[in-house]
Amino acid sequence: MTTFADLELNPKILKAITEAGYETPTPIQTGAIPAALKGKDVLGIAQTGTGKTASFTLPMIHMLARGRARARMPRSLVLCPTRELAAQVAENFDTYSKHLKLTKALLIGGVSFKDQDALIDKGVDVLIATPGRLLDHFERGKLLLTGVQVMVVDEADRMLDMGFIPDIERIFGLTPFTRQTLFFSATMAPEIERITNTFLSAPERIEVARQATASENISQSVVMFKGTRKDREGSQKRQLLRAMIDQEGDALTNAIIFCNRKTDVDICAKSLNKYGYQAAPIHGDLDQAQRMKTLDDYREGRLKFLVASDVAARGLDIPSVSHVFNFDVPGHAEDYVHRIGRTGRAGRSGSAFMICAKRDEKAFAAVEALIQKEITRLDIPAALLEEWAPKKKPAREKPSEPVQTSEPKPDPSEKPAQQNRRRRDRRGNDNTVVGMGDHMPSFIALSFEERRAS
Ligand code: AMP
Repeated sequence: MTTFADLELNPKILKAITEAGYETPTPIQTGAIPAALKGKDVLGIAQTGTGKTASFTLPMIHMLARGRARARMPRSLVLCPTRELAAQVAENFDTYSKHLKLTKALLIGGVSFKDQDALIDKGVDVLIATPGRLLDHFERGKLLLTGVQVMVVDEADRMLDMGFIPDIERIFGLTPFTRQTLFFSATMAPEIERITNTFLSAPERIEVARQATASENISQSVVMFKGTRKDREGSQKRQLLRAMIDQEGDALTNAIIFCNRKTDVDICAKSLNKYGYQAAPIHGDLDQAQRMKTLDDYREGRLKFLVASDVAARGLDIPSVSHVFNFDVPGHAEDYVHRIGRTGRAGRSGSAFMICAKRDEKAFAAVEALIQKEITRLDIPAALLEEWAPKKKPAREKPSEPVQTSEPKPDPSEKPAQQNRRRRDRRGNDNTVVGMGDHMPSFIALSFEERRAS
């Protein structure tokens, strides 16, 4: 079995690896590191969780340990599709280069231009960037890419999804022809194949087994959900989520809850908080500082529930998540594998739950077809069904019975017009206005005297 020592990395890097607690290199590292150290281009077909970040960061640091940075001309460049991934690469870089004196700049949205400009002016060994932000800096004349000796493209398939391929092609064109390229993608779509054929020269291709199915140590279950009232479907679904969380008890230490839409991410996080579950949303419309803080809180255990969209969560390295909840069935079946792959990492066991609404049944069938496994069906808890069951109307009160004097509290979820109507009914007057739906103007529910007084 290959050890890190066999990879002939700089001893100061080996020291940092040992301190990080890594014992043996992962398959993508065993394949990519020797090729990269020989100066070859690398095409790594691997996804998050395989150790791919270290497979390009470690040889880069090894190469950068020799030589010095020059003003405005970074010596290496890492391109990432999202700010979070870029920040994660930067963190990896710091961890593995801690015994070496290397400098870096991070060009991502939400980080001030001024500070990064100052760093680049002085000269940096590595520049970690999202494509758009890098081109912004370049166009402002603050940066030269002609000193780039190693260029990394991370998560190229994600770049393709996000429409960054033209930017990537442009950036390739701004770097020297003689550069070394380390290129990573989880899948090889035809467009990605074309880019690698154009910009990589005789690459060493390393492919690590794609997670076509979820790991065996993740238990998977689903609740088929149908609300009892169309207008309450959203709140009933959130109530079901809370019941599923509660049922897990202490086995749940932290969880990621995935929603398909950003608006639902917000609603779901807000609702969980309202009911005393510590939750925060993460999606592309939230500002960078807030996203970073949420992730930090989550990683450090200060936050128990992360409510996320697929794009925001893709590629995030969050160790030891006990539970994943799919509040919606993902529209793309492969996203299901990615989502639940957030739990059950590194040999730990994990639990994945999903809520499948009526309209999601087709997407659900696609998920089961992809993973070639039947997901365990769970029932909606009986207490909820009872609560949701349509209530029988109480019989009309007889006139001889005493009239109720203390008013029950109005249900805050009801509209004022509904509350008015209900109040009058409880006084014993059978004057419910029929045919107005929920939109009855409140003055109609007032008595003649009340109307005159108002
Ligand atoms: P990545 O696929 O780069 O997102 O890495 C996934 C996780 O694996 C990260 O938390 C790394 O710190 C960790 N990791 C990377 N290489 C190793 C290794 N050789 N041994 C143990 N953990 C590793």
